[in-house]
Amino acid sequence: MHTEKTQGVYIFQGNTLLVPETIPDSKLHEPLPWEVIQDLEALEPISIPGISGDLPVGSVDLAPQFPIPPKWRKIPIRHVITLMTQGSAPSRSGPTDPIFRAYHSIQWRRESRFCGSCGSPNQDAPKELARLCSVCGRIEYPRIAPAIIVIIINDQGQALLAHNKQFLPGVYSLIAGFNEAGETLETTIAREIREEVGLRVKDIRYVTSQPWPFPYSLMLGFRARYAGGSIQVDGVEIEDARWFDRDRLPALPGLGSVSRYLINQWLSGNFS
Ligand SMILES: [Zn+2]
Repeated sequence: MHTEKTQGVYIFQGNTLLVPETIPDSKLHEPLPWEVIQDLEALEPISIPGISGDLPVGSVDLAPQFPIPPKWRKIPIRHVITLMTQGSAPSRSGPTDPIFRAYHSIQWRRESRFCGSCGSPNQDAPKELARLCSVCGRIEYPRIAPAIIVIIINDQGQALLAHNKQFLPGVYSLIAGFNEAGETLETTIAREIREEVGLRVKDIRYVTSQPWPFPYSLMLGFRARYAGGSIQVDGVEIEDARWFDRDRLPALPGLGSVSRYLINQWLSGNFS
């Protein structure tokens, strides 16, 4: 159940957001007033203790079989990001943060029902976003997996874009990968680039970050300069990689993603 503190609520079902049809795309990231969900019968509300000090928000995780109420719409979360950002810069304090936090939390709660140490059922911790085992006292916090994404630029001002097997046909994006245990982010960047396209880089610079709760990532965006090697794709994740000029581009990733933000920064001449 929600508490008096909560100022609003997000309604999720699987990997989708549910909102009344009256909510425009530009407001999708804002929580709904609690009164709205009175229309929903047979709910099983899941409260999230304070989303942050000044912006407490609740979340409801609808069962997969729960029917969509009349005059509501259901939007995949990834599509929500594109709709509500429309190319604006991802920001650590931007309007996307509360909905990302809520969605991240919902997914994590689905998978943290039992203590990872003794196997007893977990409960919500009383004062923070955490799960608490009442038997052994183990506290579990939401899992966050750092991942790097990097735009590589050569001396001709071209950027390296790659086609991953998981992308839609014709779409090219940046090299990305998860930070592994024991690595610095710089080590991760060098390893991923070496493994996926066989290049060496230098002058690695941090640019921006974005929560990417699909399911648990924090995307850390960098730029780097080409330092050597010739393109050799791994053939496993990456099917093709090429240097692109600004005026001859392939299909690009969607607006609202860090990759598109970094590419747009390069197109604007900010990484020369
Ligand atoms: Zn336990």
